[in-house]
Amino acid sequence: MNKPTRRNFLKDLGVGTAGFSLAAERARASQMPGRPGVGDEASNAPRHSDIMAIAAHPGDAFFAMGAAVALQVHLGARGIFLSLSMGEKGSATIAPAQYASLQREAAERAARLLGAQAAFLEYRDGEIPVSEEAKFAVSDLIREYKPGIVVTHWRGSWHKDHKACHAIVNDAVFYAGLPALARKQPAHEVRKLFFADNWEDAEGFVPDTFLDIDPVFDRWLEACAAFPMWRGETGFRYHDYYGSLAVERGCLCGCKCAVALMSPPEQLTRHVQAL
Ligand SMILES: [Zn+2]
Repeated sequence: MNKPTRRNFLKDLGVGTAGFSLAAERARASQMPGRPGVGDEASNAPRHSDIMAIAAHPGDAFFAMGAAVALQVHLGARGIFLSLSMGEKGSATIAPAQYASLQREAAERAARLLGAQAAFLEYRDGEIPVSEEAKFAVSDLIREYKPGIVVTHWRGSWHKDHKACHAIVNDAVFYAGLPALARKQPAHEVRKLFFADNWEDAEGFVPDTFLDIDPVFDRWLEACAAFPMWRGETGFRYHDYYGSLAVERGCLCGCKCAVALMSPPEQLTRHVQAL
């Protein structure tokens, strides 16, 4: 029996995960239409799931969610970064229209560096609406890109756009998976939903999944550096924070560097034949 160390405890919880594979998701119960959380019972192949990061602003997508996307791409899956706004009001010195262009260029460059795609919805920064229109717009993109995994904001945020994004994505995942909901693309079921470790979304954030990002750590840092704000130009030291957070999370799961993710509670339910 393992010694009851914290490391063993974390191991027993399944942390230190190296990539999200469909095979690892197999032991799941049947699910309701539109709900994430079912595995691919039909396949034993260790194929890695395509992943879509959906963030309020381009920086969030790459800084807080980008390493997980980079790892899945590294393992052969497809990665998509979707920003609901351009974060165009994020600079005190550059006019929003110009800053929006810089943000788009940075996101496209960063996505290219990681072998992923960048997509945008361009709601107004600070005014992302929690509307049916926004939920269907995101749901349509989920149906178009067909990710097995979606990563988005945790709801415990002080930033209204981040809270809005959380609410939009939860319902968009639901809408995307409903076969009876007729849209241009057929229904697509997201197998797993995760919430990202973001300095602005820390209230009640309790990580349960630690992803070893060592193979992509340097490339992910390089991609983030495409954004001027990464260097601290808007006031927050993103490079220092997210770079050292990855090392700290790595210490907790016995690897060099990691990202921590949080699951919706129902995704953690286990169905077992014996304890
Ligand atoms: Zn943000």
